[in-house]
Amino acid sequence: MNRGSRSYRIALLPGDGIGPEVTTSATEVLETVADAHGFSLETAEYPVGGAAIDHVGQPLPAGTLTGCLDADAVMLGAVGGPAWDHGTGDKRPEAGLLALRKGLGTFANLRPVAVPRALAALSPLREERVTGVDLLIVRELTGGIYFGTPRTEGEDVASDTMLYTKTEVQRITRIAGQWARKRGGRITSVDKANVLASSRLWRAAVEEVLAAEFPELALDQLYVDNAAMQIVRDPRQFDVILTGNLFGDILSDLAATLPGSLGVLPSASVGEGVGIFEPVHGSAPDIVGLDQANPIGMILSAAMMMDHLGEPDAAAAIRQGVDGALNDGLVTADLARDLRFVGTREMTERICKWAVTSAATTRT
Ligand code: NAD
Repeated sequence: MNRGSRSYRIALLPGDGIGPEVTTSATEVLETVADAHGFSLETAEYPVGGAAIDHVGQPLPAGTLTGCLDADAVMLGAVGGPAWDHGTGDKRPEAGLLALRKGLGTFANLRPVAVPRALAALSPLREERVTGVDLLIVRELTGGIYFGTPRTEGEDVASDTMLYTKTEVQRITRIAGQWARKRGGRITSVDKANVLASSRLWRAAVEEVLAAEFPELALDQLYVDNAAMQIVRDPRQFDVILTGNLFGDILSDLAATLPGSLGVLPSASVGEGVGIFEPVHGSAPDIVGLDQANPIGMILSAAMMMDHLGEPDAAAAIRQGVDGALNDGLVTADLARDLRFVGTREMTERICKWAVTSAATTRT
C-alpha cells in the first residue's frame, strides 16, 4: 500500500453536485497535513456518476475503475442529481457507485456516528440524549437486495430478491468483530429474522463467527424495526451495529440525523483491496455552487482514509482541525440556527489552520 517513501496515490472522484466542492476542501486539508507529517500525495481525478454519463455515456467509465484499482485509496464526493433522474438501469449515476463498490470488492461500509460536543445542542434530539453518542454502523455493501434480481412483469407487478450467502455474512461479521475489539467490545446485529429467510441465515452465521472467533465480544440481536426505534430513543446504548445492505442504508441515514446534519458524517467502504472514502450525504443539488456545502463529512472521510493508509497522526490532526473549527463556533448554513454561518471555503481554511496547529503540537 505504502509505495516506498511514504507517498500515496489517491484517485479523486468528485462526481456531481456539491461533490467537487467538498472534494476540493478535503484535498486542501490533506495537502496541509501531508506537508506537516512528512508524506506526499499523488492525486489523479476521474469522472463518475452523472458527470461521467455526460462525458462518455456511462456512470463508471473503464478508465475510472482502472485508475481506482491502481490507487492506494479512492476519495469520492457524491453522485446524482435532477439532470440524470430520467436515466434507467445502468445509465443512472447510482449504478456507477454500485459498480465501483463491486469492482473494488468493498463489501464493508463503515459509518461512524459521533456527536461532537460543539454540535450536541444542534441535534434534533435533546442535547442530553445525544451527548456522548459514539457508534459505528458496519453495513454489508455488495450483497442483499440491492444486488438481487429485479423483475418487472407488465405494468402491475415488480419484485426484487434479497439473497445472502453464509460466506458474505461471515466476512462482514469479521470486520464488525475487529472493530468491536478496538472499541467497546459490543455488537448489535440487526435483521428481520422473524419474517425473512435471508435474515435467519444472517443471524445463524453471525452467532457462529462471533462464538468461534470473537468469544470475548457481547452480542445483542435486534429486529430492524426495534433498532430504528432504539436509535432514536437511546442512541448511546450502541457500540457497533452490524447489518445488511438495505437495513444499513436506512439505519445509517437515521443515525446520521443525530449530529444535526448529514453534512458532517464520513464513511469508508473497505474490503478486498483499495478502499473508498466518501461522505454519507448525496450531491445536494439545492446548494450547488453557493459555497454552502458543509465539507466536514468529506474531510472526516479523508481522516478515515489516512488511518486506513497507516497514518494515524495525520488522521488525528485532521480530526483535531475539525474540532478546532467547531469549537471556534464556526458552522456552515446546514447547522446554523440563526444567520451566522460561514461558507465552505472559510470552514476549510479554519480546519486547515487547526490541523496544522495540532500537527505542530504533536511533533514538539
Ligand atoms: P442529499 O444528501 O444530497 O441532500 C439532502 C439534504 O441535505 C439537502 O437539503 C442538502 O442540501 C443537504 N445536504 C446534504 N449534504 C450537505 C452538505 N455537505 N452540506 C450542507 N447541506 C447538505 O440527499 P438527496 O437530496 O436525497 O439526494 C440528492 C441527490 O444525491 C440524488 O440524486 C441522490 O440520488 C444522490 N445521492 C447520492 C449519494 C452518494 O453519492 N453516495 C447518496 C445519497 C444521495
